[in-house]
Amino acid sequence: MSIQFQIEASHGAGRAGRLITPHGVVETPVFMPVGTLASVKGVPQDLLEELGVQILLANTYHLYLRPGVDTVRRMGGLHGFMAWDRAILTDSGGFQVFSLSELRKVTEEGVTFRSHLDGSSHFFSPESALEAEIGLGADIIMAFDECTEFPAERERARASMEMTLRWAKRSKDYFEAHKQEVPWGSRQSSVVSRRLDTVSSFDFPVSSKDKHTGNSKLDTRNFGLANDLRPTTNDDAPTQSLFGIVQGGMDLELRRESAERTVEIGFPGYAIGGLSVGEPREVTREVVEATVAHLPSDKPRYLMGVGTPEEIALYAGLGVDMMDCVLPTRAARHGLLFTSEGKISIKQARYATDERALDPACSCRVCRRYSRAYLRHLYAANEVLAQVLNTVHNLCFYLDTMRRVRHSIRLGEGTRVLSGVSSQPKP
Ligand SMILES: [Zn+2]
Repeated sequence: MSIQFQIEASHGAGRAGRLITPHGVVETPVFMPVGTLASVKGVPQDLLEELGVQILLANTYHLYLRPGVDTVRRMGGLHGFMAWDRAILTDSGGFQVFSLSELRKVTEEGVTFRSHLDGSSHFFSPESALEAEIGLGADIIMAFDECTEFPAERERARASMEMTLRWAKRSKDYFEAHKQEVPWGSRQSSVVSRRLDTVSSFDFPVSSKDKHTGNSKLDTRNFGLANDLRPTTNDDAPTQSLFGIVQGGMDLELRRESAERTVEIGFPGYAIGGLSVGEPREVTREVVEATVAHLPSDKPRYLMGVGTPEEIALYAGLGVDMMDCVLPTRAARHGLLFTSEGKISIKQARYATDERALDPACSCRVCRRYSRAYLRHLYAANEVLAQVLNTVHNLCFYLDTMRRVRHSIRLGEGTRVLSGVSSQPKP
């Protein structure tokens, strides 16, 4: 096993726990910032660490096109390439490829698509997508799936779901045959040792020096993880973990069938895909609730591509453990900021001489230091710093939201999770 998942508290359907990966512990439920091109736009890795990011997401499609999987592989995978020792998840490229509706052709074998960069022709199959994901070397990787469009007729949603199931099996077969090719290789020891130096930020058991080898190792008395995390020989080296993806459109019966048959194939974690594709939010909630009910309770559940701060708190309360969304980072670059008092559009003239902190309830480095007037000026003047500061704050707001959710679940106060979380526009 290369990940372990421990549920430590639950309240209603929500649960709080720890996902233990080859690159550190992730406290769940977790929000994963999106670093499309091995970069969370505008935010250096040390700031992400300071914000408490324990796992981030990168996009296979974009990295495959630029700089190319082979370049990343030679640098020791994404961890070495982007100098990030904590956990990483990659998608399979499926969603991005399917977003290129004008530029793609789908067959049983896979998807032919044209690059959005230069129009060149490429082909992704479950096998080639997994080959790319193994080369990129994230801790958690996703099966190649077809994201069913919205709206879709039932027959179309069923056919798409059936193909995703066949592709899930092919993804798993390829992964099992090639998982030892992960590029952590000889860099693994140094990555692990450096990680141990910073491990206190995860509240990890104390590390100590092995008196025979001088190597750092974890005190695993509480975790039983020695073989997974200690620098090891190749035979028992940790590998990536491949998650399956549930599809089925907005049809609850198809979702049940997709969940059950994906679980039959067997994965260490399960994602709910094909949501946030234009459906009403009430439908998203219904589908999430219905799908979670058919996923095993002892495996992590990942809801792909959601949502607003209220939504991520809501879905965590429904039993989702992992979420990612471009919203906090993309909105920040457009001057839209989430605060405890509602959503703020910092470009508005009314902030021109506003001396207050962006969010008086936020303890991030931006809110501690700068006024709304200054942030408004930076945005209006199109300063690069505006994007940096806005993104840092929005990420902090999302991560704090999830911290509060975890805390509430641990205290048995699940229903209070939503109070104080708001992304409604300021009145
Ligand atoms: Zn802040």
